[in-house]
Amino acid sequence: MSTAQPWPLKEAIALVESLEGRDVDGPVLFETGYGPSGLPHIGTFAEVARTTFIRRAFQQVSDRPTKLIAFSDDMDGLRKVPLNLPNPELVEPHLGKPLSSIPDPFGVDSSYSAHMNRRLREFLDEFGFEYSFRSSTDVYTSGGFNAGLRILLQRVDQVLAVILPTLRPHKRAGWSPFMVTCPDCGRNLSTSVTAYHPEDDAVSIACDSARWEGAVGCGFTGQVNILDGRAKAGWKVDWALRWWTFGVHYEMYGKDLIESAALSKRLVQVMDGTPPIGLFYEMFLDEDGRKISKSVGKGISVDGWQAYAPVESLLAFLYQNPRKAKRLHYDVIPMFVDQYLKQLTDWSGQDEQARLWNPSYFYFDRDLPRPAWDTSVNYTLVRNLAVCLGKDDADLVLEYLKRYDASVGSPAHADLAKDLIRGAVAYDRDWEADKRVKKAPSPESVPALLALADAVEAYVGEDSEAMQGLVFDTARAHDLEPRALFKTIYQGLIGQDRGPRLGSFFLALGQAESAAALRALAG
Ligand SMILES: [Zn+2]
Repeated sequence: MSTAQPWPLKEAIALVESLEGRDVDGPVLFETGYGPSGLPHIGTFAEVARTTFIRRAFQQVSDRPTKLIAFSDDMDGLRKVPLNLPNPELVEPHLGKPLSSIPDPFGVDSSYSAHMNRRLREFLDEFGFEYSFRSSTDVYTSGGFNAGLRILLQRVDQVLAVILPTLRPHKRAGWSPFMVTCPDCGRNLSTSVTAYHPEDDAVSIACDSARWEGAVGCGFTGQVNILDGRAKAGWKVDWALRWWTFGVHYEMYGKDLIESAALSKRLVQVMDGTPPIGLFYEMFLDEDGRKISKSVGKGISVDGWQAYAPVESLLAFLYQNPRKAKRLHYDVIPMFVDQYLKQLTDWSGQDEQARLWNPSYFYFDRDLPRPAWDTSVNYTLVRNLAVCLGKDDADLVLEYLKRYDASVGSPAHADLAKDLIRGAVAYDRDWEADKRVKKAPSPESVPALLALADAVEAYVGEDSEAMQGLVFDTARAHDLEPRALFKTIYQGLIGQDRGPRLGSFFLALGQAESAAALRALAG
């Protein structure tokens, strides 16, 4: 193998190296984290997708079984009501409480976080990702974190020694690794820890808003046992507690969490554990190049992508180098759909070694059937065809595509073809139609258009190269630059300066229809 490697494979090899000489009991464990304070967004999804790519690469370099935990921090307290939720007045009175103790603003599930967790699972399932979902609240209340919580309480001085120097001086006095839920008012953002009692597995707290002024404390003071879900660890400590408890070997994280991850790793060492490895990734940017914020939910969602393209094409977008910031807006969709289709097409002609370099290798479980696309029909062609036909009837577009390549209608291609046409028609309607202005040809190009119409109609055969040649021949015969004639046709038929290969396009549209369209354009 060459020194350069697909990035998931590079990560998998680093993971194998990090496990050398260690006792690994059970599967190699990957983890992703989700904060259910809002609806799952593309960043959450991206983390699971990319981690899954690495898991699949790991199968190439190791026989060890793997497992992915998708962890939801649903015991975290809610600081503010996100903007994109219904019925904010239902949520407002519960600010400062754990997400799992707040009602579902959608009125569907048992709690705020139960709703968000379900939505996350639904969209991960749609991609067939294999994962084991864990709710923070469930693990805490069932005592799953008790052993780690005890160690953290016994070694609280060491924990403080790691974290306090990283905080601003005025924050140091009130900081504690534990966020205790007030037994009277149920908030965990309003309490502060005033003393530690490791011998009793307990701390003393005051519900005085000292930790966060947004949650008004009820005034409770007293000693509270921290086990069995009465307390959680604060961020950074919580991350370390998860890693230590589950024995996580690999977790990636956003660039904004580099410092948190470094501290959490030190805390795992304080607990005599071995921290995981994992790369950090760059953030997604909106159409103006700003970071996409979780609470505002700008940019494009998984649903938004799916409205315009086969949903798996999103994986082609996410496969790009995770260390480069990516603009995530609707205008990136066509390019990545065509990349995705090309990857599927390339696959069938590749041997095992070449396939490792095909990004779609990592999109699908190797033991399950994968979509096939052995045709040069792509998103661009489908969109242009739909525009030229002026119809948004998906069945009709499919009929035309079958003239270009009959295999588009085969059982192996049918589902993807339908999905592609549906998305392309919707994309054009929502994002392109307004921008498109069809232009009338210049008087001097009219004879060439008429001659080309005759030539296209008279042509006998199915060779798109030969058809393409007709455009060049006609231009030269009329003393026109071929480029100018192409542009005239694109502007006239699809309202763009550039377009599909006309040879293929005329075959798809049909010779008689193409000739009629050219004559109509000539006026
Ligand atoms: Zn209270």
